[in-house]
Amino acid sequence: MSPILLKRSMSILSNTTDSNSVAVAVSLGSSLPYLNRSPREIVLAAMESLRLISIEAEASSVYRSEPVDCPEGTGDFINAAMVLRLPSKTAASEFLAVLQGIEADYGRQRSAEQNQARTLDIDIISFGNQQLESSRLVLPHPRATQRRFVLAPLAEIYPEMVFPGQSETIAQLLALLPRTENVCLLA
Ligand code: ADP
Ligand code: MG
Repeated sequence: MSPILLKRSMSILSNTTDSNSVAVAVSLGSSLPYLNRSPREIVLAAMESLRLISIEAEASSVYRSEPVDCPEGTGDFINAAMVLRLPSKTAASEFLAVLQGIEADYGRQRSAEQNQARTLDIDIISFGNQQLESSRLVLPHPRATQRRFVLAPLAEIYPEMVFPGQSETIAQLLALLPRTENVCLLA
């Protein structure tokens, strides 16, 4: 990595929260095309939108993963993760509304069925040091530590990150997962 790139990535990742900004981890996934865009194109376009609203942003590569806990016949998912630095005045609930707006831009339709195929899902994995459990938002994301498709992309960009309330790093959590779920880098 070039010295300039290294300096940039250290500045975003060196401390989780400072007085001006908060570090936010997000996970993106898509298993259905929308209009003329493939799941991969949707994930890449959503990452670009998130980069534009962030002070700084680090993005993982794009991964392909087998569906987990999904209705039968659900196709593979395209997944990625980002760590964003947002202005500290941003409320987590406001940011969730922004993410849901981006999901809607890419044709996301919600149904009562859990984990159904979707054009775009963006979840907040952690928001600074916040731990909360409301009907609309749970932080850190309750299922993140069990999901290879969340941990593998995040480990690529921020392996030493520790979610609030956890003692293991993302790299350690990933190493603890059983190898049942197939997640691979998209060529
Ligand atoms: P999924 O659980 O598959 O991501 P949805 O994207 O439809 O399902 O989200 C269902 C609800 O989960 C949302 O309406 C949102 O209010 C809630 N939610 C709770 N915690 C989070 C979080 N950390 N990130 C995103 N959504 C969350
Ligand atoms: Mg979601």
